[in-house]
Amino acid sequence: MERVYNFSAGPAMLPVEVLKEAASEMLNYKNTGMSVMEMSHRSKDYEMILDEAENNLRKVMNIPDNYKVLFLQGGGSQQFAMVPMNLMKNKEADYIVTGVWAKKAFNEAKMYGKANLVASSEDQQYSYIPDCSNLNISKKADYVYICENNTIYGTKFWKLPDTKGKILVADQSSCFLSEPVDVSKYGLIFAGAQKNVGPAGVVIVIIRDDLISEEVYPATPTMLRYKTHSDAKSLFNTPPAYGIYICGKVFKWLLDNGGLQERKIKNEEKAKLLYDYLDNSKLFKPTVRKDSRSLMNVTFITESDELNEKFIKEAKLEGLINLKGHRLVGGMRASIYNAMPLEGVKALLAFMKKFEEENI
Ligand SMILES: *Cc1c(COP(=O)(O)O)cnc(C)c1O
Repeated sequence: MERVYNFSAGPAMLPVEVLKEAASEMLNYKNTGMSVMEMSHRSKDYEMILDEAENNLRKVMNIPDNYKVLFLQGGGSQQFAMVPMNLMKNKEADYIVTGVWAKKAFNEAKMYGKANLVASSEDQQYSYIPDCSNLNISKKADYVYICENNTIYGTKFWKLPDTKGKILVADQSSCFLSEPVDVSKYGLIFAGAQKNVGPAGVVIVIIRDDLISEEVYPATPTMLRYKTHSDAKSLFNTPPAYGIYICGKVFKWLLDNGGLQERKIKNEEKAKLLYDYLDNSKLFKPTVRKDSRSLMNVTFITESDELNEKFIKEAKLEGLINLKGHRLVGGMRASIYNAMPLEGVKALLAFMKKFEEENI
């Protein structure tokens, strides 16, 4: 069986070079006589893996020294709780709801304080990013929360909201490391690894160090305090050790391949191919407003559910898999993260053109 072009939203494709290198080290990591999976997380060898992963991530994202990098577990979803438990000092925060993940975070925050809905695109099935240039930011808000790339709907913030001086918290799960970002504009960034970075089981948190404190929501478990993990340099307990090792390899792969500037060029090229075609197709329609389109998750439909289904089924026979849209929205979604090669997008495009000719 050859490798397929996997358009899944996550877990998703990883660079084949990374997988091959990990395979070659599987039984005997650098003459230790064991796999990284079998290694003590307190060993010198593992400490080096963790240090190198962090240092390479710092390099690739240009993370300022006053930010901590934490490798945690619990996925993106656990951050929906950790963020308010740790950052809602005034018991109030503002949320911009642009999709399912943002709404989940918003609802979670309500358990820990007053969560205000300051903007939403629910009125049009989350098919756009609302204007966030002059929001009614609450005086007491401890932070403003966004989901920067909406994996399910295929939208992205092309411009960050004006938070009027408040801290910006961003869920970057599905756009992390897809292009350069200015980390200093954020108080906290988090990303589940399984979309664009590595295997499931790791979530990366980048947090400005003055936001880490003992002062948290009462009875916040030790494991859910950023301070616990920051003090212990992500080794408070056994971390998701193998997952971090793979993430480290992806960071190195990014550095060796032109960094995030090069990723941006490549990702824009891939997305443009699909959107240009979708804008002119007689069969397929893009579902997202032009100014809000994601570079990572391209969503589209035909005129009927039957035709959508036929497309997904026939694409699969061509080795173009997981093109089904999220169960909440239907239609199609092509997730084209960093590791999706240009050839994969070209193969999808050629198939779409053929399908259009046969079905119009
Ligand atoms: C997938 C996803 C999540 C949830 O991640 P889990 O690791 O499954 O908890 C949260 N936010 C965004 C933007 C996602 O794409």
